This record gives sequence, C-alpha cells and structure tokens, in this order.
Amino acid sequence: VPYVIGSACIDVNDKACVDVCPVDCIYEGERKSYINPRECIDCGACVDVCPVQAIAMDRRVAPDEEAFVADGRDFFEKVLEGRSEPLGAPGGASGVGALHVDTPFVAAWRRE
Ligand code: SF4
Ligand code: SF4
Repeated sequence: VPYVIGSACIDVNDKACVDVCPVDCIYEGERKSYINPRECIDCGACVDVCPVQAIAMDRRVAPDEEAFVADGRDFFEKVLEGRSEPLGAPGGASGVGALHVDTPFVAAWRRE
C-alpha cells in the first residue's frame, strides 16, 4: 500500500517529505512531488512532516483526491514531456534530481 501525494502539494512542493524518506523514493516534479509506488516501503515517515497534509495511503485518499493515485503511477509509467522513456523505478530520487516536469493532469491543475 504505497503512499500518495495529493493536490495540497501543488505549488507548495517544499520537499520536506523528501528529506525524511528512508528509501529516497519521492521525486520532485515542477509543481508537486511524486512518490514512486514501486519504491515506497510504506513506512509513513513522510506523512507528518508535510506542512499541508498532502500525503496519504493510497487506499485512504479522500474521494475527491482519487485521481492522484493513478496520476502518481502515471508520473513513473508514462513518458513525461521532454523525455524519451518512462522514469520507471530509478532506485533513488537524489540521483535523478529535480525533473522540472509534471503529469499533464497536474500541469493543468487550476492555480489557487
Ligand atoms: S511512506 Fe516511507 S517510503 Fe513511502 S514515500 Fe513516505 S517516507 Fe518514503
Ligand atoms: S512535504 Fe508535502 S508539500 Fe512538501 S513536497 Fe512533500 S508532499 Fe509536497
């Protein structure tokens, strides 16, 4: 049961969660960050450090946040703009660095 980052992260993206993840599986997009569902070990360490409560277990996301479960997978399994292949499971976000790209769903998210 991997954890998922929802809409509250969009345009906050302060990476507090990145610093506490023991397996370095939180990848930095342009407007939000994304947990790699294949790499997350479900420890929950990231949940309490998020200043906007954006992180939840995938089975427990609020009904209006359901789309972020699939979107969180899409970030790694679909080809992102400007790239030639999916990210997949690179085995660590720090080695990949900031990606400066989002899924089309997040890129189009209304700005507050
Ligand atoms: S639940 Fe644990 S392993 Fe998964 S993203 Fe959060 S800190 Fe990382
Ligand atoms: S701590 Fe919360 S707001 Fe900050 S990057 Fe992680 S999910 Fe986004």
